[in-house]
Amino acid sequence: MFSKLMAVNEQLNEAYLNENKGYTIALIGNPNVGKSTVFNALTGMHQHTGNWPGKTVALARGSFLHHQKSHEMIDLPGTYSLLAHSREEEVTRDYICFSPCDVCVVVCDSTCLERNLNLVLQTLEITDKVVVCANLCDEANKKNIIIHKEKLEQALGVEVVLMSARSAVGLDELKEAVMRCGMKKGDTHRPPVDYSPMIEQAITHISKVIQKKQLQERFIAIKLLEGNQQFYQCVKNKEAVQTIVEQEIKQLKNGGVYDQLEDSIVDAINQKALHIANECITYQQADYYEKDRKIDRIVTHKVWGILLMIALLGLIFWITISAANVPSELLTDGFHIIEGKLNTWFHEIGMNETVRAILMDGVYKTSAWVISVMLPPMAIFFPLFTILEDFGYLPRVAFNLDGYFRKAKACGKQALTMSMGFGCNAVGVSGCRIIDSPRERLIAILTNNFVPCNGRYPTLIAIITMFFAGMLAAPWSGIVSALLLTGTILLGIILTFWVSSLLSMTLLKGVPSAFTLELPPYRKPQFAKVIVRSIFDRTLFVLGRAISVAIPAGALIWLFANITIQDQTLLVIISDFLDPFARQLGLDGVILLAFILGFPANEIVVPIIIMAYMSSSYMMEMDNLTAIKDLLVSNGWTWITAVCTMLFSLIHFPCATTLWTIKKETGSWKWTALSFVIPTAVGMIICFLVSHIAGLFM
Ligand code: GDP
Repeated sequence: MFSKLMAVNEQLNEAYLNENKGYTIALIGNPNVGKSTVFNALTGMHQHTGNWPGKTVALARGSFLHHQKSHEMIDLPGTYSLLAHSREEEVTRDYICFSPCDVCVVVCDSTCLERNLNLVLQTLEITDKVVVCANLCDEANKKNIIIHKEKLEQALGVEVVLMSARSAVGLDELKEAVMRCGMKKGDTHRPPVDYSPMIEQAITHISKVIQKKQLQERFIAIKLLEGNQQFYQCVKNKEAVQTIVEQEIKQLKNGGVYDQLEDSIVDAINQKALHIANECITYQQADYYEKDRKIDRIVTHKVWGILLMIALLGLIFWITISAANVPSELLTDGFHIIEGKLNTWFHEIGMNETVRAILMDGVYKTSAWVISVMLPPMAIFFPLFTILEDFGYLPRVAFNLDGYFRKAKACGKQALTMSMGFGCNAVGVSGCRIIDSPRERLIAILTNNFVPCNGRYPTLIAIITMFFAGMLAAPWSGIVSALLLTGTILLGIILTFWVSSLLSMTLLKGVPSAFTLELPPYRKPQFAKVIVRSIFDRTLFVLGRAISVAIPAGALIWLFANITIQDQTLLVIISDFLDPFARQLGLDGVILLAFILGFPANEIVVPIIIMAYMSSSYMMEMDNLTAIKDLLVSNGWTWITAVCTMLFSLIHFPCATTLWTIKKETGSWKWTALSFVIPTAVGMIICFLVSHIAGLFM
């Protein structure tokens, strides 16, 4: 009965495998069950892991060697079902159904296996080349949950491996089970779920109509529920079949059976999952989530939850700012010494003065600023943020902010994508795939830029320190800086709500969709791993990007500052041109030009401003913030200029990478253009108002 699909799969597999190549292994699982951790443990790669559902939104590939063969692994986006209601589910379902995958490893959370078994059973409808990986066994043990492996294997008809991927326990067993599964011939398989007569009838009826035996009948039942194009590409006489199937669906829909059919399939699978769980799992401690619930009562409390959130944000910034000072100064000093040595050496070897100046005064100084000002705060902020993420705090933030987003008629999950924007807006924008409704996804994408990414913190922190906190004594300067930075970010969050609400009332009208937000269990973060990984994967990645932009930008800005037309440098000509408009925003032509030139990456805004002023002020050193402040003040900066520059840094167009990601995600120039225009317009209006109102008090 189910042999045909297996045969199709087998043929594809044979064609795909050559002698040296091992198996292609797909990893699927509900969100947050440790799939990426299993993937990383097997392949040695560093896919992003974190304790919240929905972070794997794209397909990742890797490989591992076993028995002298290289096996390819595909980490599919986390999904609760294969019935394809969201983009992640579609990607995963289509991969399992249509690609030449030899083994499908379904990763499950052993602490709530009953919920995960649905996906196992759905996968078994399509293929029996399945290995069930019951991960997080260490947590299950702590909670006194016992999984009876043999019984479970019997009930499902496939191998089960008990694992703790984080500590690599069970990894070898998993590899061996995958090898055995890959060798298995797939034609004796009988999926474990018994459907109701209605579904069986529908299946038989449809399979008769399409001259059956083309594909597995049950599979058709599942596939029929959404009429995906790829389905038809697997069938002979595809046009004829497509017409017939479409007619059948129409009939089912007209008869009101279509939705019922889906509901009944889901019910049958749920019941079977529950039955298997009852038979194969023993819970010795009923209230194993009691501790989590106690913490949640405070963390997700209406008032305390929000206060705690603000306090945590402030604390992270305080630690970041205070601890970054010393290494920042050391790096600046270090770069200064190297600069002197390099300059002497270049003079000694008789290097052309223009080349030396481009290299040292342009490229070197800009890159040195980016590294010494960005590296220390990032190396502190990212690990702290990742520890909170690993602990399971991010979904609680989403929970706390859900009501506010709902009031703005947006999706509560936007809180998660917004949090991701704190690191990098481009990452936040791709993360918006976790939002199912296209309307809400667009709102989240268009407003992601209102929270500052890491590239903008250096600008904000430097201005706060120079103009508002630097003059205070030791602990206070850090505390005031952290408070001001937290306030700036809260303003960004308030603007996110406000613009989201404005969009839902105008361009993106609609009602917010309901969704269930999962609060994952709290997990003890893996401090050492988190620190190492967030420095390598996030900090160095962002820094690398910043430097690669700073190098050409440094050279370009030097040329701007040194090429003269009729006795005036290009920089002066352009900034003079921008000046009248910029003054209306409380800025000046140089600052606005710096933001425009900083379009490739926000990190380089401050170095551009410094270099531009230096070229006219002949002040060549910028090795400490006091000197920089003097430079700024001598160029007309007041506290109003400082506030407006901070505001414009918070609220202006996204950087080039983020815009490119928005184009990729929305596929539309219109939305990309709007995501440029909206924050820029809001930023300009706010700066205009602030500068003019503040001007009245001067
Ligand atoms: P994914 O969404 O399925 O890819 O899940 P991740 O791989 O990102 O893991 C989710 C969370 O579970 C992370 O905080 C991991 O560190 C944690 N985790 C993964 N495997 C284990 C495990 O075996 N034991 C424990 N205690 N935690 C784990």
